Amino acid sequence: MKIAIASGKGGTGKTTIATNLALSLADTGIHVQLLDCDVEEPNCHIFLKPEIEKSEPVTVAIPEVIEEKCTGCGVCADVCEFSAIAVVKEKVLIFPELCHSCGACTLFCPEGAFREVPREIGRIEEGKADGIDFVQGLLNIGELMSPAVIGAVKRAGGEPDVLIIDSPPGTSCPVIEAVKDADFVLLVTEPTPFGLNDLELAVGMVRELGIPFAVAVNRSDVGNEDVREYCRREQIEIALEIPDDRRIAEAYSRGEMVVRALPEYGKVFEDSWHRIVDLRNHATRTGQPLGQTATEG
Ligand code: SF4
Ligand code: SF4
Repeated sequence: MKIAIASGKGGTGKTTIATNLALSLADTGIHVQLLDCDVEEPNCHIFLKPEIEKSEPVTVAIPEVIEEKCTGCGVCADVCEFSAIAVVKEKVLIFPELCHSCGACTLFCPEGAFREVPREIGRIEEGKADGIDFVQGLLNIGELMSPAVIGAVKRAGGEPDVLIIDSPPGTSCPVIEAVKDADFVLLVTEPTPFGLNDLELAVGMVRELGIPFAVAVNRSDVGNEDVREYCRREQIEIALEIPDDRRIAEAYSRGEMVVRALPEYGKVFEDSWHRIVDLRNHATRTGQPLGQTATEG
């Protein structure tokens, strides 16, 4: 079972839920692996405090000009969709940070004047934390190619009983890369107008991907009822609710795991896990991803 924890915006409690769900399952003897795919700002490690055993660079292939073959024709600049090449006075300029490693310039150069060279854009780190196998990705500052690092983190994943992916916030390319092959997505939100707006965007994304999903409402006893009404209207299950408990905020500010500081929350996460498994099984049995409305289903 591969479950992605996602949210339409940052700061909703996504990492709190990913790490505490992982730990509460590991505490029951389940083999859990947690992949921190929020590679621009990975922070699962702050709470899990893993012992890192392995660290490897992540590289992408970028073009390099073979000067003696280049005629300065400009074809490469024309085919590059990402403005990563300019040809000025028959001299080729490459902007590595903009290159998406699509290979089009190498393919279309009439003179065969490119070779591909590796460029480091980040790292992946692997280790263990409190019975959890842990992998995180770190994108180098100023780099744009987070999907490449996310892909590397996912390739480093093994075959545990449960694989939990802490995805980046939002609904753009990095999130799609993180959640696209998940068996289930848990969308974390808060019961506020902003929370609802971003939830609607995230729901649109997972419906487009056709992945079964449910919602987790953090600080569930503040704000208003709009998120619940939206979920009712759209036939979306709420699999987890975490109240606005000051003790959780205090544990968070100390970098502590909620299920360690407040053991009674272990059962809350375990119960939500059973609910998620039921929802996933229902979707598999019926071929109807829950959360899809009747008309879309
Ligand atoms: S397409 Fe090839 S030959 Fe033409 S400018 Fe680019 S590198 Fe040089
Ligand atoms: S590999 Fe693709 S993105 Fe990179 S410079 Fe060539 S055409 Fe542009």
